[in-house]
Amino acid sequence: HAKNSGRSAHVAFAPHMREDAAKRVQLELDLRRALERDEIVLYYQPKVALRSGQVIGFEALVRWKHPDGEMISPAEFIPVAEETGLIRDLGMLTLRQAIRQAEQWRRDGILTDEMNVAVNISGRQIGDKGLVGFIRDQLQESGLPPHSLRLEVTESLLINSDTTTGEFFREIKALGIGIDMDDFGTGYSSLSYLHRFPFDALKVDRSFVQRIDQTEESLSLPRSIVALGKALGMRVLAEGIENMEQLTQLIRIECGYGQGYLFSKPVPAEEVPEMMRHLDSKMRTELMAS
Ligand code: C2E
Ligand code: MG
Ligand code: MG
Ligand code: MG
Repeated sequence: HAKNSGRSAHVAFAPHMREDAAKRVQLELDLRRALERDEIVLYYQPKVALRSGQVIGFEALVRWKHPDGEMISPAEFIPVAEETGLIRDLGMLTLRQAIRQAEQWRRDGILTDEMNVAVNISGRQIGDKGLVGFIRDQLQESGLPPHSLRLEVTESLLINSDTTTGEFFREIKALGIGIDMDDFGTGYSSLSYLHRFPFDALKVDRSFVQRIDQTEESLSLPRSIVALGKALGMRVLAEGIENMEQLTQLIRIECGYGQGYLFSKPVPAEEVPEMMRHLDSKMRTELMAS
């Protein structure tokens, strides 16, 4: 929306726009400060094998604990970080934190060799030439094996797929790090991208899972995505599973993996061991009941 602001700078803002702009500027200032203090933390949500209930890894999700006590959602501040270039520092901070945490969990025996920790990467971050080198250095410094780290990207990244995107993929794969496609089915990308970019998993967007009910019709899209993923040798993970009905149906259409409040909400790192114990006993009860 701010695209023409140079030309139309003399046009007065409507009151609500001025308010929005002021809010934006305040948010940017706050975020700058937050990055320097300890206000940015990662929460972790388990990724689960649907049939067995076994945890296959965790997704790191950034949280901003504002000093006034409020928790600010990434949906609110990631766009601001992208527009202001702060995403570079934010991205390095989350990658460093997630890599450190993953290595700690490996040492504690919480993260086995088959499990990984996934970090979200936005399109604006991969334009940064230094990103791949930074990840390589962080892995080396921490001792975390590359297969224990995952990156998640969305389809929007592929739309402007210039050489940068291709290079990023090649370099990340060459390091031995897997890449998952996030929010699959919501973007505008064509299926041909799936051949060009070797994803390890497709994450079926939450909106498809939310629509699942008793009807066969509600299953047709998830079923097609599962078949597509399998045909291309990718894992398929359903996002946003909230109830047993969705889980049962997803197992029925042979979706292998999932994530959602049914298993656990994202929790702070220190609560992960307790969450795992709770999940384990919960799944055993559910499986016995079904
Ligand atoms: P995403 O990567 O698709 O993450 C999934 C979102 O769905 C998370 O929201 C998660 O808390 C939420 N979720 C998980 N299970 C359920 C469920 O059962 N029901 C419902 N209603 N929601 C569920 P969150 O944490 O608010 O993150 C929103 C988005 O912000 C993420 O979407 C991701 O695109 C972005 N994001 C989060 N952390 C980072 C980060 O460190 N870096 C970047 N670049 N983006 C991030
Ligand atoms: Mg994600
Ligand atoms: Mg997603
Ligand atoms: Mg999303």
